[in-house]
Amino acid sequence: MLPFKLIYSDDYYLPIGQHVFPAEKYRRVHQRLRETEVADPGDFVTPQPASDQDILLVHTPQYVNKLKTGTLSAREELELEVPYSPELVRAFWLAAGGSILAADHALKDGVAINIGGGFHHAFPDHGEGFCMIHDVAVAIRRMQRDNKIRTAMTVDCDVHQGNGTAAIFAGTRTVSEPLPSNGPPVLGTRPPMHGTHAGDVFTISLHQENNYPAWKPPSSIDVDLPDGITDDDYLAWLDNALSSGLRQFTPDLICYIAGADPYREDQLGGLGLTIEGLKTRDELVFRVAKAQGIPVMVTYAGGYAQRVEDTVTIHCNTVIAAAECLALKVSDG
Ligand SMILES: [Zn+2]
Repeated sequence: MLPFKLIYSDDYYLPIGQHVFPAEKYRRVHQRLRETEVADPGDFVTPQPASDQDILLVHTPQYVNKLKTGTLSAREELELEVPYSPELVRAFWLAAGGSILAADHALKDGVAINIGGGFHHAFPDHGEGFCMIHDVAVAIRRMQRDNKIRTAMTVDCDVHQGNGTAAIFAGTRTVSEPLPSNGPPVLGTRPPMHGTHAGDVFTISLHQENNYPAWKPPSSIDVDLPDGITDDDYLAWLDNALSSGLRQFTPDLICYIAGADPYREDQLGGLGLTIEGLKTRDELVFRVAKAQGIPVMVTYAGGYAQRVEDTVTIHCNTVIAAAECLALKVSDG
């Protein structure tokens, strides 16, 4: 029995046909966690779809209406990069419900993992990059509305910048100042790590600079990583960004977006992390959060390894890393 809950539904499957996004990955992660006995049936909690009211905490009524009535323009559907269907809308409402449930359980148990979600490219008024609804932002706004948290921090380690997250929470930004850059040297004309203070939600994004999205709205901290960066340098930058963020801001909840696509064999990524390096990344986030007593809710986001099995392994390792970290005393780690 795990000391935290896994949020999962077979209906997380995205009905998008043959696609670079491995829509079956959620079912395969669930299956692997059961087969390897990392998780018992009792570790899983089944989500309900978010309500329209929840979705409207982040998204505009016009956009929600278009999704519900199937009236996206051809351009809007193209930008989404997944084929629209009413079933797909239901899957995204369910992912958002899953992230709300994960946030709730994280506040009780210290950690909770949504075996799905992390759709960080969704904006209030449109979707893009396979992301229709920003489940993490919906969960944050719902926890705030219910007075369960006041503040949150997003830690986005997907290889692609969290443009939707940055745009959604940009409205709460109050002060702007350059950050000290103490990380490993990286060639470039400006420091790779830069950003601004946040209001009630502090956003951190570590991503490959030369990758989608072309336009990267500023997060509270952005770390623009060079192509091919390997485990040690990546982990140093993550450590640096977490320390800097937590010096500036004390969140009631960390939302960790644990994308599997910084993997060196990813089809849509250009970083050089190994499977072991990605597990160390997860451990670092859990360890830092635990040392400061901050609950963590996890979502999975992207993962496009040439072998889907590798993506499944990376996602399963996030569960194992959380379990190992929660079993350690703070002084051990
Ligand atoms: Zn990604």
